[in-house]
Amino acid sequence: MLVEPIRIEISLGLMFQTVNCYLVPGDHLTLIDCGLYSEENWEHLKERINAHGYQLSDIEQIIITHEHRDHTGLLPEVMAQSKAIVRAPKAIEGWFAHPEKMKNKQAEFNAKLFSSLGFPPKILEQVSWYFKNEIMGRQIEEMDRFHFYEEGDVLRIGEEDWEVLNTPGHCPNQFVFLQKEQKKIFGSDMLLPITPMPIVVEDPKKPGIPTRSLYDLLQSFSRLLKFDIKTIYPGHGPVFVDANAMIEKQLARIEMRKEECFEAIKIGCSTPFQINRKMYPYQNMPPDFSGMFMILGYIDLLIEEGRVQKEFNLEGNVTLHLRS
Ligand SMILES: [Zn+2]
Repeated sequence: MLVEPIRIEISLGLMFQTVNCYLVPGDHLTLIDCGLYSEENWEHLKERINAHGYQLSDIEQIIITHEHRDHTGLLPEVMAQSKAIVRAPKAIEGWFAHPEKMKNKQAEFNAKLFSSLGFPPKILEQVSWYFKNEIMGRQIEEMDRFHFYEEGDVLRIGEEDWEVLNTPGHCPNQFVFLQKEQKKIFGSDMLLPITPMPIVVEDPKKPGIPTRSLYDLLQSFSRLLKFDIKTIYPGHGPVFVDANAMIEKQLARIEMRKEECFEAIKIGCSTPFQINRKMYPYQNMPPDFSGMFMILGYIDLLIEEGRVQKEFNLEGNVTLHLRS
């Protein structure tokens, strides 16, 4: 009998409901992701682990799927209460070794990016505030407990070997763990019950250039479709079955929304901000940008298809036109 991962839900407050950690018994007691930091969440995580008959000190390995704070927030606490090693992608080391520096760099890049998208100054101010204050990493003192993994590595989780896949889209350093024979996956924020948000950041391979995150997400979808995955342990929401059905559904919606984006440009929306307001009319709560990452993605796809052209006006702002 193969072990079944224990899903532990951690609160994210009002905005996104919950995030999942997985406690997996087996060869080494493993915790996959650590949840968002708060006093209450820390108490809750401990309580859930104890309720399943384990102590924090029993955890032997912690595996991190990507750097976002809803997945890494409680890492310092779990490390302090255990002797566990931490397995994480090499590329996100900086978010633990010097998080302040990483945060400032990303905030600066995002402020510049968003100021080119046609945001009115007042809203732009709120967006910049968000980037300066809401992106958080937690400083880790014992970096020598980190063991870095990369694409193609194999991790022992439970009583099975899981292949490490880098599936960019939600973020460039998004990793998932695939058990090929059993057709199971720890899908993190790559395979979710709703389309993962293709957050745009500075491309780690091309300094100064934003990632084409939705384009990357589609590439990752095509890659995952080939495995015909049956069981998904997602980063948010309940465990679900049939990844291909979920991916096809999300692809159909992306296709439909991309055409709506094309229509918006056709009727004269010439900045990403204008398209955002048209396609997300109810997203009236500043800072107004959760839809923006999808819009930037649709624009990238339309440019890729040769249907839309992006230009920069004299102020350095993005303007969009149909290609004739
Ligand atoms: Zn997440």
